[in-house]
Amino acid sequence: MIPGGKKIQNAGGFEIFLIADYQDQDIRNFALADALVLDWQQPDHTTALLKKIRSSFIESIYLLPVFIFNADGIVGDTERALSDGELSVVQEEPIVKVIRQVKKRREDFTPHETNSSENRILTKLFRYMYTRDKALSPEVDVMAHMGYEYPLIRLHYPAGESMEMLKILRRGTDNDFFQGTFVDKTHICPSCHSGHLNLREVCTQCASAHISSENLIHHFVCAYMGPEGDFMTKQGLVCPKCNRQLRHIGVDYDKPSVIYRCHDCRHEFQEPDITALCLNCKTLTPVENLKEIVLDKYVLTDLGRDAARTGIKVEGEEREFTIPGFVNFGTFLTFLRFEIERIKVSGKESQMGSVSLNLPARLRSNRQQFERVVLDISDFIRNNTDSSDILSFASDNTFFMIFPEKGDTAVATMLNDFRNSIEKLLVNTFENEPEWNLTAQFETLNADTEYTALINQVKTI
Ligand SMILES: [Zn+2]
Ligand SMILES: [Zn+2]
Ligand SMILES: [Zn+2]
Repeated sequence: MIPGGKKIQNAGGFEIFLIADYQDQDIRNFALADALVLDWQQPDHTTALLKKIRSSFIESIYLLPVFIFNADGIVGDTERALSDGELSVVQEEPIVKVIRQVKKRREDFTPHETNSSENRILTKLFRYMYTRDKALSPEVDVMAHMGYEYPLIRLHYPAGESMEMLKILRRGTDNDFFQGTFVDKTHICPSCHSGHLNLREVCTQCASAHISSENLIHHFVCAYMGPEGDFMTKQGLVCPKCNRQLRHIGVDYDKPSVIYRCHDCRHEFQEPDITALCLNCKTLTPVENLKEIVLDKYVLTDLGRDAARTGIKVEGEEREFTIPGFVNFGTFLTFLRFEIERIKVSGKESQMGSVSLNLPARLRSNRQQFERVVLDISDFIRNNTDSSDILSFASDNTFFMIFPEKGDTAVATMLNDFRNSIEKLLVNTFENEPEWNLTAQFETLNADTEYTALINQVKTI
């Protein structure tokens, strides 16, 4: 059962829920659903929840069939692309069809573990495309930094990282996982990569946009050439040089070109420059220096479908670095299960803590620097925990810890200390880089703890 969800009865006996109440929805509750139908009555809430679902790295959540129930409103392109369809009446056939297809396709998947966040994102994207037979198309979105979105993958890259996002798509094409076909081209600001640009003609001398153009007139008879304004009289066009009336264009005169005049510096010229003012960072760029972006539509190749089934195993996979005193995540989960079983028998309480580093891809791209930071933090955590505590580092971003019978208060204090010290270390390492954040939390393990629910929770951290 999903709080705030209304079960939709269906012949297939599937767990399909209609969600109209978005208050306190927790996506972890969706792991056991077969499909969701989100009511579009509160579009902002629907969009937020849909994005949360598709941002998850838990397969049963991000691959969940999700429909939008929309009787009269207009659903945005991005939302449509992230959902499995729009329904104007809630009916089971289209929903059940997608449920069956996704379930069937998921049977092909083998478990995939990677310590490379890029491979994790690509594998996720491939699995989403594979289960749906969906292409990844650029969507126009005025809210998007570039003005275009690649839904799903975009969820993993904040606005300033559109280039990282395009790079990962290019990697998909370079490795023949994708076949790209041309859809459109766009131009973006070379300094902040925003697509929101004001293009205008400017003076070639002072770069002012306060310019206007006028036709040039060429009087054949006397060969005089000047701006149209000089020919204007109450009697019509009269040549200022020979005083003759101009009658027929093409016969006695011609308009060979235009002339531009700058109202700021009075300069006259025939070809204005064109510059782009970035509406995001206010940088001025001559149009020829704007960054050109090709927007392709991507479909999975046979190789891409293979990669969806098994996960990506190609170059780009960073070597797993071992941290002294830390166990790998699989082992950690085994310890966690044992600890829960032990606690159930003993009736005592233990704690599981985590500290997540949310660093933008930009800060992770210097692999050597990143690994040094991780090792420094690991040293610090190891030196400030007991030898009976179990430590692990997973998904390239989270430190996990099991504290057997340490007590909630002690663990809370400890995690708080960890957070403060790690914060200092990050401030020192990434000077002038405000875009990271740190979260520390813990769970009490006791007789009521359910391993599977906890694992789902752990994986969303
Ligand atoms: Zn003349
Ligand atoms: Zn000027
Ligand atoms: Zn800019």
